[in-house]
Amino acid sequence: MRGRSAGIFGAAVVGVTAVGLGVLSALGVLDRAAVERPGAQATVTPVPASPSTVSSSPAAVPVPTASPTPRTTATPTGRTTATTRATPKISVRPPLRYVFPVQGCPASASQAHHDYPAADIFTRVGCRFVAPVDGRVDEVIRVDRWSPKTNVAADRGGLAVSIVGRDGVRYYGSHLSAITAGIRPGLAVRAGQPLGLTGRTGSARSTPAHLHFGISWPTPAGRWWIRRGIVPPQRFLAGLKTGNPSSPAAMVERAKTAYGVDRGCRAYC
Ligand SMILES: [Zn+2]
Repeated sequence: MRGRSAGIFGAAVVGVTAVGLGVLSALGVLDRAAVERPGAQATVTPVPASPSTVSSSPAAVPVPTASPTPRTTATPTGRTTATTRATPKISVRPPLRYVFPVQGCPASASQAHHDYPAADIFTRVGCRFVAPVDGRVDEVIRVDRWSPKTNVAADRGGLAVSIVGRDGVRYYGSHLSAITAGIRPGLAVRAGQPLGLTGRTGSARSTPAHLHFGISWPTPAGRWWIRRGIVPPQRFLAGLKTGNPSSPAAMVERAKTAYGVDRGCRAYC
């Protein structure tokens, strides 16, 4: 997000940020060694999610598929024997669990977004951006290429991570100050697993710190005009705050159908 609220919050946020980082460091919440920063070497220390997580509705619980049924087979001699597979493999996937994407700090999501559907989740610099659901890392942008002179749309997010959840939905967070070490495309992640730290990279350089949060359907890499957000995430985020989350999967599916053929950026390009 850029613009209007910068003047209102800018000075306050800078002050809070400095104090906030100090407090977080003292509490051990913000481990500077646990994240990678551009141009610096760092090591991994994933931080567990806070307990403020919630479960999805029973409708989202997958049903086990395999069942060890004894089979009866006839041998060539005419005798009948019962055989049971020695170690049947039953894959029971845990129920989907959704987690608010900003952890460790107060955070408040905007009710609207300029130009296209998304949410700006206002918070401090250095708060954990976590996977909202189990899934796999989709794209990771580790270098902030944005310049206010050119304002290239593809670069506005600065440092960013997207994941594709087990629910088939892509979740995107940008303007990060750091990416968690080891986070790379294809990596399996669990709900609540840290992906990075909130910040002010990209076009958030002159705005209050926030996580730009977008929900969309998966696409091939680089389609930033979809990745940045297609479906309003406000209801999903509000559900997480009140402990009554609902999956955005159906809404994303409907939006994908309505969107039609993708011929590139349509707004704020
Ligand atoms: Zn935004």
